[in-house]
Amino acid sequence: MKRREEMTLMERAYVPEILRGLAVTNFHFMRNLAINIGQLFGLAKDRRANETSQYPEQRKHYPDHFRGSHRLTLREDSSVRCTACFLCATACPAQCIYIEAGESPDPHVEKYPLRYEIDTLRCIYCGLCVEACPCDAIRMDTYVHPRIWGFDRKDFVENKQQLMHRSTVLAETGRDGNMDEMQQWYKEQDAAVYNPQRPELKRYTDRAVPLEAEKHPAPEPEELPAIDRHQHAPGGK
Ligand code: SF4
Ligand code: SF4
Repeated sequence: MKRREEMTLMERAYVPEILRGLAVTNFHFMRNLAINIGQLFGLAKDRRANETSQYPEQRKHYPDHFRGSHRLTLREDSSVRCTACFLCATACPAQCIYIEAGESPDPHVEKYPLRYEIDTLRCIYCGLCVEACPCDAIRMDTYVHPRIWGFDRKDFVENKQQLMHRSTVLAETGRDGNMDEMQQWYKEQDAAVYNPQRPELKRYTDRAVPLEAEKHPAPEPEELPAIDRHQHAPGGK
């Protein structure tokens, strides 16, 4: 890469690069337009125009080497394989793994994680935790991307149960299972938020706009102590 002093005036103005970018964008735009119009008239049937996938209705399947959300692997008896050695947390450059170790109920294993949490907002998906683990207890081969909706930081912290559950789903339903489950969860959240009185609330994320009643909640009626309630009751003395 050239240093700024070595650049010509044109390069410093970034004009050639801007024009080159525009040329690439326009080339693809015109190519797509020509193919789509041609196909309307029965031409260029063998050409494929670039298209945008309509996620979530259409889903691209992640490749084998996709580094997705984490999972904690399981032993044959479905217990967690992790021995709470903290090597993954030590290797993590984002310091987003939190482990609390406890004494393992298995006499052959010294420790296990009472709590194992990953803050996915801090995680950079580098995979160093997977590399550091000496017993193959954490993997990222779940073929599911991180959760993208939530209203609170806590919504993005994955706990031990969630991380173990991904291993169960992967074993039982294959590589699409975790993604299916995430999409089902999104649909359930959308259905839960649907309110016929507020047609603008169609999706889970629309809940980011608080209801008027939520902005100004009515004060709770004051609960009278039992003795006062008796005195205020109709016919009370
Ligand atoms: S993928 Fe990288 S940043 Fe994320 S938990 Fe593992 S080591 Fe940390
Ligand atoms: S996941 Fe692996 S590296 Fe991390 S604490 Fe458990 S056994 Fe150690």
